[in-house]
Amino acid sequence: MTTSRVLAYQGRPVLVATRHGKADPLQRPFGRCLGVNLWSPADLDTDRFGTFSGEVARPGSPEAMLHAKIQLARAEYDAPLALASEGSYGPHPWLPGAALGQEWLLWQDAEQNLTVMEQLWTLRVHYGAYDVSSVAELRPAMQRCGWPQLALTLATSQPGLPVYKALRDLSEIEQCWQQLQAASGSAVVVATDMRAHLHPGRQRAIGRLGARLAHRLACSCPACGRPGFGRWQWQHGLPCADCDSPTSQRWRRWLRCDHCGHGQPQSAVATSADPRWCPRCNP
Ligand SMILES: [Zn+2]
Ligand SMILES: [Zn+2]
Repeated sequence: MTTSRVLAYQGRPVLVATRHGKADPLQRPFGRCLGVNLWSPADLDTDRFGTFSGEVARPGSPEAMLHAKIQLARAEYDAPLALASEGSYGPHPWLPGAALGQEWLLWQDAEQNLTVMEQLWTLRVHYGAYDVSSVAELRPAMQRCGWPQLALTLATSQPGLPVYKALRDLSEIEQCWQQLQAASGSAVVVATDMRAHLHPGRQRAIGRLGARLAHRLACSCPACGRPGFGRWQWQHGLPCADCDSPTSQRWRRWLRCDHCGHGQPQSAVATSADPRWCPRCNP
């Protein structure tokens, strides 16, 4: 593949529009691939764009939130290069008991008017959230949320009541639970605190996603020369072994440029499909 290292970013500072320690897992891949130095402002209020514990609902799509975070940071800091991260965790739609995580990462280069986004789906990051309405259920729910290795949040669905975060101490958790239960008269939601600085698994996921985005930014498009070549998707249509017709089988990765639309194939998963998948040989 004709790609070249993007040297233009070497030694430049990159603002990470976050306040929950996401610059740490991102520094390694971005330092290695692009030679940039990541930093985040100490006092950026990104919680206004939604919190995991639900006291602030996310006001828009993840992509819109990423743009809003960078815009907020740029209003205060002169930062042509910026990164923003967003995560969402919840019950898996069809695997009972499993959690599904999504992470997004957006790179914005204001000088080149360039935006590159990458996304990661993960089943590996621990997440739990349970309604707890009796003290007997509390301890098992805490453990299913990853306690004591991971910190917890306690919240109710009732507006106006506090949301407790970063809880690790057992007696403190019991106290908070009792207080919320008495005040709301209903179940209290015990959940894993998903903020990155408290969750090593989430930090690793952000690091993996960072490596993916940084590698992409280090590749410039063979057609238009802009950085960020290589958004990939599966191309179907693996040719039939007997008649060469395209089948519905997965064929190869297709890499493309978001700016000019240029695309090219990457490694194929197979060279030909079994004729039983062929619409002509086996209609
Ligand atoms: Zn291009
Ligand atoms: Zn065929």
